[in-house]
Amino acid sequence: MKAARMHEYGKAPILEDVPVPDIQPDEILVQVKACGMCRSDVQLVDGYFRKYADIPPPITLGHEITGIVHKIGGVVPKVAGFQEGDHVVVAPGWGDGVCRHCLVGNTHICPNVRWPGFGPYGGFAEFLPVPARYLVKANRRLKFEQIAPLTDAGMTPYRGIKKLRDAGALGPNRIVGVLGIGGLGGYAVQYAKLLGGGATVVAFARNSAKLAVAEEYGVDHVINIKGKSSKDIAKELSNATGQGDLDAIIDCAGAPEMMQLGFSLLAISGHYVDVGLVGDRVDIPLFPRVSREQTFHGSYWGNNTDLTEVMALAAKDKIRHTIKLFKFDEINENIDLLRTGDIVGRAVMKW
Ligand SMILES: [Zn+2]
Repeated sequence: MKAARMHEYGKAPILEDVPVPDIQPDEILVQVKACGMCRSDVQLVDGYFRKYADIPPPITLGHEITGIVHKIGGVVPKVAGFQEGDHVVVAPGWGDGVCRHCLVGNTHICPNVRWPGFGPYGGFAEFLPVPARYLVKANRRLKFEQIAPLTDAGMTPYRGIKKLRDAGALGPNRIVGVLGIGGLGGYAVQYAKLLGGGATVVAFARNSAKLAVAEEYGVDHVINIKGKSSKDIAKELSNATGQGDLDAIIDCAGAPEMMQLGFSLLAISGHYVDVGLVGDRVDIPLFPRVSREQTFHGSYWGNNTDLTEVMALAAKDKIRHTIKLFKFDEINENIDLLRTGDIVGRAVMKW
């Protein structure tokens, strides 16, 4: 089969022929139909994660995976209901199943977690083995290229918005800021509207083509922050909404300057959830965080429940997509485009 494998950090993945993988008895062999490309694929190649997890090459990239059930392992329970030909999406965080995080369903933050696309097998290949419990069935009516990104770009902000909702940060008299309108931000805007309980949603980005996507998805206001001071941005926010700060923030960028802006706009008792990983450090004043009783939430990817809920929203046609299709042979040029921020919406490889 064909696979895009990274053999050395800092070098482009090699598109090569490798054997079709075997499966363990509890696994299902998935024939990949589409795989989204994530900024973290670029970061993996560039070595961003090495100080946290130095995964040994060769690594098959691609973790936004959908496909069809090709072969079912011998001990996969019948009650799981899988049949060859079923359409499935791959839940990304494969836990050990025994720690306390796994036991409450948060397998994606298991200390012994494995991720497809960050090891021997990934979605930029024709097949990959997946433990059966990490497959979620997809409605056959949905397009593969639309559901592939729902396993990360379309799920990660969903979990983040749920954290804001569960913290009581949303509601009709609240202003929610979505920082960064890239692959994740377009979905974050939609979830802020769907789960926000009537909150006013404001998108912040530096690129007007990306802000246009947020507008298409029903955001209440957009603010182009390019070259503007945080004071001017607060004024623009106040003019747009009648309030110069944000009760809740979902940060889909995680860039240092964006985080400084976000915290400078965060209201008293505000909640800030970050799902973006563009930067790796943040330097912000401490006193306002304490005196204004603000809360920061890390929110990482999502679990099977999050994915199941997102797939249910998709099946009800509640989620809209901005997809740029590409072919397997075009993986490396798309990695370069993503690195420079030149992709609007999500780039998805389709076989
Ligand atoms: Zn675990």
